[in-house]
Amino acid sequence: MPVCIYCLYTKADDQFEPEHVLPRGFAGAGVNWTLTGEVCRQCNRHFSTFEAHWLRQAMESMARNFQGPVSRNERERFDRAQPVEIDDLYILLKGDPLVYEAGFAFPNDPHFRPQIIDTGKGVSCVVGRMDDVPSLKAGLDAMLLAERFDVTVPRWREGHSDWLIASVLRRQHAPHFIIEQWRRESKPSGLWLRGFPHDSFLAQREHSNAHMTARLAIDHRRRLYVRAANIEAAVSFFDLLLQPHAPIEKCPDIKPGDQTVAFSFQINLNHVYKAVLKTGFNLYCYLYGVEYARHSNFQLLREILLRDKKDNSGASLALRACRMEAGDTPDFPKSANTDEHRMQLDLAEDGILRFRLRLYDSFGYYAHLGVVPAEMRSAISTRRVSVRSATDGIREVDHW
Ligand SMILES: [Zn+2]
Repeated sequence: MPVCIYCLYTKADDQFEPEHVLPRGFAGAGVNWTLTGEVCRQCNRHFSTFEAHWLRQAMESMARNFQGPVSRNERERFDRAQPVEIDDLYILLKGDPLVYEAGFAFPNDPHFRPQIIDTGKGVSCVVGRMDDVPSLKAGLDAMLLAERFDVTVPRWREGHSDWLIASVLRRQHAPHFIIEQWRRESKPSGLWLRGFPHDSFLAQREHSNAHMTARLAIDHRRRLYVRAANIEAAVSFFDLLLQPHAPIEKCPDIKPGDQTVAFSFQINLNHVYKAVLKTGFNLYCYLYGVEYARHSNFQLLREILLRDKKDNSGASLALRACRMEAGDTPDFPKSANTDEHRMQLDLAEDGILRFRLRLYDSFGYYAHLGVVPAEMRSAISTRRVSVRSATDGIREVDHW
């Protein structure tokens, strides 16, 4: 029975899944190398958390959205392999103190998400595209017609293994909402609570009179979310929805140049670095085989990837094993082709297995995967891999 190169458990054949050396979201529809029968399903699932972050929320996600790969196949030409998720993406309008939720999906410009905003004098509803209306209505109905509904606090999850969920009850006699109880669960439930951006985020903009208020909106998966400073502010905002309608104000005329789009990423470097380390180790296993990959010298790397191993001060060791590297070096030069990713695996001093990766000829990473056992070092040479996501896919090259 095969042994997983990550957890080192022996499992039945059907417990293994093919593992792409470089995630498909970067490699495109062309040739990609896969490890077959080397990575178990359980490890694969564990990796998907930080790989999804790398694909959807890191800086590369913006490059990927413009640069490709377009999709897994040609038919879905304008449907990206995975959507970009940007939690803070706003439209500001000249002379308007409100900040609007925006969405973005290639190849379209940023657009208004359907949303209900606290204006300070009541609530106001904004819809950018009419086909978004049914999702907003369905989300609101589910929330306002139910006796109670859940709100999940995603930020809690960053430091805990479970989700924190507030059960919000609508009081029948006095029309307002209260938090009835808190619970922790393995799965999120109900609405997502998104926080406000940092104070300085909007203050530095051209339209700096704009300020953030609570709101409900629909995300790119057509799920309702609430944005508020905290859960208590969210519940107060829900109360506003029960108030009689305020007079409807006319929307301001929007002229070209009156809009500013502001966005920020919330990058979890620990996730990104683990995804890079795993890619490097996949490549090592693909090029040299499982005997090299299963060696106990790589146990520290396995513990970083599977158990998020920390040092004595509690800092993640992934942050020490990997770093971003903006520049290029003579032995790992840039390609001047933004459609190309480059990977290089070689031996650094003291037998350290070094992995370098550059995506879209721009985002560079430098990683130490571990120390190659002395008896295996003579077999290791410099290996260069080029990935052209728009055309042929992955291949090894002799020189850069
Ligand atoms: Zn495993």
